[in-house]
Amino acid sequence: MLSIKQAAALLRSGDLVAFPTETVYGLGANALDAAAVAKIYQLKGRPASSPLIVHVSSIEMAKTLVAEWPPRAEALARRYWPGPLTLVLPKTPAIPDIVSAGLPTVGIRVPNHPVALELIAEAGVPLAAPSANKFTGLSPTTADHVRRAFGDAVPVLDGGPCQVGIESTVVSVEGPEIRLLRSGMIGFPDIERAVAIPGSPHPAPGMHARHYSPRTPLTLSEAPDPRGAYVWIARPAQAARVVHMPAAAAAYAALLYGVLHELDAEGWPSITVEPPPDTIEWTAVLDRLHRAANQ
Ligand code: AMP
Ligand code: MG
Repeated sequence: MLSIKQAAALLRSGDLVAFPTETVYGLGANALDAAAVAKIYQLKGRPASSPLIVHVSSIEMAKTLVAEWPPRAEALARRYWPGPLTLVLPKTPAIPDIVSAGLPTVGIRVPNHPVALELIAEAGVPLAAPSANKFTGLSPTTADHVRRAFGDAVPVLDGGPCQVGIESTVVSVEGPEIRLLRSGMIGFPDIERAVAIPGSPHPAPGMHARHYSPRTPLTLSEAPDPRGAYVWIARPAQAARVVHMPAAAAAYAALLYGVLHELDAEGWPSITVEPPPDTIEWTAVLDRLHRAANQ
């Protein structure tokens, strides 16, 4: 079986190694070695127009690869790394153009997997790594999936099944606003909240973490309501008032502030909300609920 030390030596000498991360298995090469990175594109059949994510083992290592490290990047890295969030920033010339598909920027993250972190530290270089599958094929979440795609063409470090299972959230941190480039399991509303700096100008109105708040303390319960009806409960239990909210986002949104005004006026000591599901159609409603709960 391939050891981490052996894998690191292969990477340093310009070869490819597949390795586990918490998102999916990556097909890794030394990100500072253009010839090594070219092997990734060739083996995957990946078009040269698709940039690769560079994996590092620390914030310090990330900073050596970028021309700017704005406070927003620092805030997001501290909050979410190691984890499934890729930050896109202006690159330094240390990153060959082939890694970034000719873009002046580079996508970077610290993966949350002990094998990946040890491998990067042992190799001592950042690893460019897309998913370890043929271009347009299914992404691999086990070492076996990688072997099915590439056979013996690439050695695989086995770190068990991936815990997150889909690719990272990708966010651009260049310029005055952050932008979502690819969705992932870290939601964009959470990311926006993490970079909101108290007192600084916001790119859009209503971006304060605490905004749209009722006077009554409001809590979001953990799980969506299992019955699928979105229920708000104004406590205390002995005189609880239960509000059944619509199961459609548009109808829910139309009632949202009206119900909050009503409950505020009634003077309940607290409000509990069973949140709707974290799906695309509920994004705006969930954003307002999170802000209302943030007091
Ligand atoms: P993957 O195929 O999982 O390695 O994902 C690579 C993805 O990362 C690309 O499809 C882009 O969405 C994103 N990405 C990486 N680098 C950059 C960059 N410099 N600028 C914009 N997006 C990037
Ligand atoms: Mg991929």
